[in-house]
Amino acid sequence: MIPSRKRKARITLAVLAAAVLVLSLLTAFGAIDFRKRPQAADAGTSVRFIDVGQGDCTLAFSEGHALLIDTGEYDDRDKVISYIKSLGITRLDCLILTHPHSDHIGEAADIIEAFEVDRLLIPNTDGEGYPYDRLKEAASEKGLALEDPRGAGFDVGGLTVTVFLPEELPEDLNDCSAVVRLTHGENGFLVTGDCGIKEEKQLLAQGAELSADVLKAGHHGSSGACSEPFLEAVKPRFAVISCGAANDYGHPHEQTLMRLKAFTDKIYTTRDSGTVTFVSDGKELTVYTEKDQ
Ligand SMILES: [Zn+2]
Repeated sequence: MIPSRKRKARITLAVLAAAVLVLSLLTAFGAIDFRKRPQAADAGTSVRFIDVGQGDCTLAFSEGHALLIDTGEYDDRDKVISYIKSLGITRLDCLILTHPHSDHIGEAADIIEAFEVDRLLIPNTDGEGYPYDRLKEAASEKGLALEDPRGAGFDVGGLTVTVFLPEELPEDLNDCSAVVRLTHGENGFLVTGDCGIKEEKQLLAQGAELSADVLKAGHHGSSGACSEPFLEAVKPRFAVISCGAANDYGHPHEQTLMRLKAFTDKIYTTRDSGTVTFVSDGKELTVYTEKDQ
């Protein structure tokens, strides 16, 4: 029997109503949460501070282009790669490694193997140990040069990327961190690696433009970073601290939280909030957290 037009319409309506009901139930019971996990393609321009425990990993995405800043420890290898892939990203315009400590470059070799990477930026200083040696090997196999990011400036989709480094690199690798400023319209982000007070002073003396709405606090919220003059130059409206639960260093330190609180009460830690995502429309910023803080 061929169904009549009316019968067909009724069936279509019933199927639609059932689909809406199932989606509403899944959303109500938390099985699907549209608020907490915007997909890359839907999100326009976004900056995500990925929860990698005690380490750093920041993914910026804009108009089909992606930039990754640091990769977390090598223990997190599957998590970061699968997270980025789950957003539909297969190619990175650029991978910036702020400095060659394993909680920042741990997964770099695996990232280079798993994705098409157009450029690799890392300060011109010697790293040490297993993750650094593996990174150099993986880069050489892919014919990828290790470029010094000093003074780098380029666009990733609608994001403008500027990199700052001290004129003279100090001995402490933390203070050799590439400090990355991202701007999208009126919104600014500052991603500082493990930059400490010594490097902050040098960048201020160099007259680096550091103002930003969102600050990824230096060195996992250590008291040796986020000095008052530095925060005064940044004037953050939001702060993100990337640190693991019960880490050996007691990060974030209370003194840092107090200094940040003088500027903003919107302080997120990846320890409590999981991955923290900022979506920018060029004027407003919307924040999504993986977990309720
Ligand atoms: Zn670190």
